Order: sequence, then C-alpha cells, then structure tokens
Amino acid sequence: MTADTIASRLAAVKARILAAALAADREPESVRLIAVSKRQGADAIRAAFVQGQHAFGESYLQEALDKQALLTDLPIEWHFIGRVQANKTRQLAAGFDWVHGLADRGHARRLSEHRPIDRAPLKVCIQVNLSGEASKGGVAPDAASDLLAACAGLPGLRVMGLMTLPAPCADPREQREPLRALRLLRDRLATPDQPLACLSMGMSDDLEAAILEGATLVRIGTAVFGARPYNSSNP
Ligand SMILES: *Cc1c(COP(=O)(O)O)cnc(C)c1O
Repeated sequence: MTADTIASRLAAVKARILAAALAADREPESVRLIAVSKRQGADAIRAAFVQGQHAFGESYLQEALDKQALLTDLPIEWHFIGRVQANKTRQLAAGFDWVHGLADRGHARRLSEHRPIDRAPLKVCIQVNLSGEASKGGVAPDAASDLLAACAGLPGLRVMGLMTLPAPCADPREQREPLRALRLLRDRLATPDQPLACLSMGMSDDLEAAILEGATLVRIGTAVFGARPYNSSNP
C-alpha cells in the first residue's frame, strides 16, 4: 500500500466517522480513531502519521516492539489491543500508553507494578465478553465490577472505560446489540470516581453501528491500511 493510498483511505475513514457522528447527533471530536497497524509495516505507520494520525493499535507484542524501535522519532500514542499475557506485563507497561484488553486482576496488578514511575499511569479499558464465546477474551459482564474494584487501588493504572470485540456480523442492526450492551453496562458501572468515559468498540465493518451506540475509541485496521499482508494463527 503506497503512502498516497493510505492517505486517501484514512481520509475516507475520517469521513465515515464524521458522518456517523452527525447521524448519531454526537460531536465528531468525541470519537477518536485508533489506526490498527498490526501486520503492517513501520512505513505504513509513518505514512499515516504524516497525515496527522497519531494513535496506533497493535495486537502482537514482539511485532509492536520491533516497529516501535523503527519509529522512535515520532511521538506516537501506542495502544495495545491484543491479549494480555502475565509474562509480558513489564514490556506492555513500559511500551504502551493504553492497554485495551484488560480482563484479569493479576494482570492489572502486574501492569500497575511494572508501569515506570516516571510515566503517567497506564490507561486501561476493561474488556467485556458479551457474546459468551469462549474463544474471545474479556470478563463476563457480571464480573466487570469486581475487576473495576480491584483496579481502583492500583497507582500505576487508570481505568478509562470498557472495551469489547464482538463476533463478526454483517447485519447492521444485529451489530448494534453487543455494542449497546457494552454502553448500558458502562452506564450501570460508572461512578463519579470511575466515570468510564471511554467505550473502545467499532472496527472496519461495524464503525457506524459503534458510533451510534456511543463508541469513543474506534479501532480501525483494514479500512485504513488495506488487507493485512499476512495472517497469524494468534487471536
Ligand atoms: C485487528 C483488530 C481490530 C481492527 O480490525 P479491522 O477489521 O481490520 O478494522 C480492532 N480491534 C482488535 C482488538 C483487533 O484485533
């Protein structure tokens, strides 16, 4: 994918976000785009950065670290959107600004402990599994409040909101169901101390549905960068 193609695809995604925000009667600025660059090269990230895209999402730790090493000259905001592993929490806490898939209190404690003290607390979203699929990460909806409570006392973490990764679904009406469920769960769990302002949901195929249901962080890969050059057997 050439830099020009990335520029025009990025512009098209921004236009979709704008149209969906207007249709939802929301401020367009209330929706942030995270460009999901997993399985894309550092040059693709650089091309998007030049177009003003500063937040990038990565799913595979080693791959992300390799690309970060090539991009140290750019002030990129790095989001980890993959599965958290207990033995990788030190690298996650040092290498990322956000972790979206938090689903375990042990991981939360380790991420907090490993967050370098000279950095602001690591921003995290609690991943909720709304489809009940065993293959998908995330806590069950009724376990989210316990995990939130466990995170509240951790100085190295700041819980920003909730995240979900629904099963793929082509029907725009059906797409909205898990997205709405995440928003309603957030509304139930939010407190003045933990307002959970962020809803991390929406990908290339359900971006509009997610914005209609209140997404504040949309994680868009294919629509920005094209098909991923190679696939992984990892989730
Ligand atoms: C890959 C991925 C995305 C982006 O998916 P696209 O369909 O390419 O937009 C978003 N969120 C997560 C958690 C992902 O793993």
